[in-house]
Amino acid sequence: MTAKLELRNVTKTYGKTNVISDMSLTVEEGEFFVVLGPSGTGKSTLLKLIVGIEQPDKGKVFIDGKDVTRLPPNKRNIAMVFQNYALYPNMTVYQNIAFPLKMHRIANPKQKVIDISAKLNISDILNKRVTQISGGQQQRVALARAIVRNPSIFLLDEPLSNLDARVRYTARSELKKLQQELGQSFLFVTHDQKEAEALGDRIGVLHSGKFEQIATYKDMYENPSTPWIGDFVGDFPMNFIGRMGFRPEWTTVGSGEYSMTVDSEESIGDVVFLHGSMDDGNRMILKSTVREKPGNSIKFSITRHIAFEQNQSKSIA
Ligand code: ADP
Repeated sequence: MTAKLELRNVTKTYGKTNVISDMSLTVEEGEFFVVLGPSGTGKSTLLKLIVGIEQPDKGKVFIDGKDVTRLPPNKRNIAMVFQNYALYPNMTVYQNIAFPLKMHRIANPKQKVIDISAKLNISDILNKRVTQISGGQQQRVALARAIVRNPSIFLLDEPLSNLDARVRYTARSELKKLQQELGQSFLFVTHDQKEAEALGDRIGVLHSGKFEQIATYKDMYENPSTPWIGDFVGDFPMNFIGRMGFRPEWTTVGSGEYSMTVDSEESIGDVVFLHGSMDDGNRMILKSTVREKPGNSIKFSITRHIAFEQNQSKSIA
């Protein structure tokens, strides 16, 4: 099957800064792919390269198997969904959805709006202004507006980032459901790890202009490919003793060959996370069922670990 989107060894520099370096990626048909990275790691640049606002210095971009590297944005058949959905507030839902069809002089716009509204379950709000509808409905309208032109792939640039926590949570699960119903390929960009975990079939974590790892969230948590991923992914960073990396729950507290002095504890339900350091100052977080006072020295053993290679430094710069 042809990938919906493929980047092949793409490099982009601004002046002397290598923002994207030798990056490769494929997004499959019907896949929800999440690009996760802290700010400044090149997420916007990557989107611009895919959309065609920027051109790579090296490498190629393919959509539906076709080389689009030198094509302008309007020849790429990509739908963009932005932060807050960027709907036109003075227009009705119908007018918002019909707008791109009129812009591109597409035949029979009325029927197309009716069909797509039925598919997205918004037929009954077509005459409302977008300011009068809920956040979830706005999301559907934004997707409807994007889908009417039958795009090959949807690019979503932190669309949920300005919503407050509760609305955001609902919008997120709704978005995942919609994507599954539509069966379309989504490339979703975010700096929010929880969002990536909830949405992504696969996640690509950006670091230093490259994908440090591309995998499911679970895989990345259980089998980080580098110490950097071990540190970055998860509620708590991975612990390290030399080249051995282990999660807080991959330990048994109470006895064992290692010891740590506790300096704080965090209770979550009936689980306790003990924070502290070993004699050499190495910071640790261990999962326990027993509470400990700050200053207590405890023994622990490691029940499972990842052995990183020698050349993979623990440095997380
Ligand atoms: P993100 O979206 O992850 O925050 P960006 O893609 O916006 O990251 O930026 C990545 C890096 O590239 C930053 O260091 C930024 O300063 C630099 N950068 C982005 N656009 C330009 C530009 N037009 N000219 C020079 N540097 C840029």
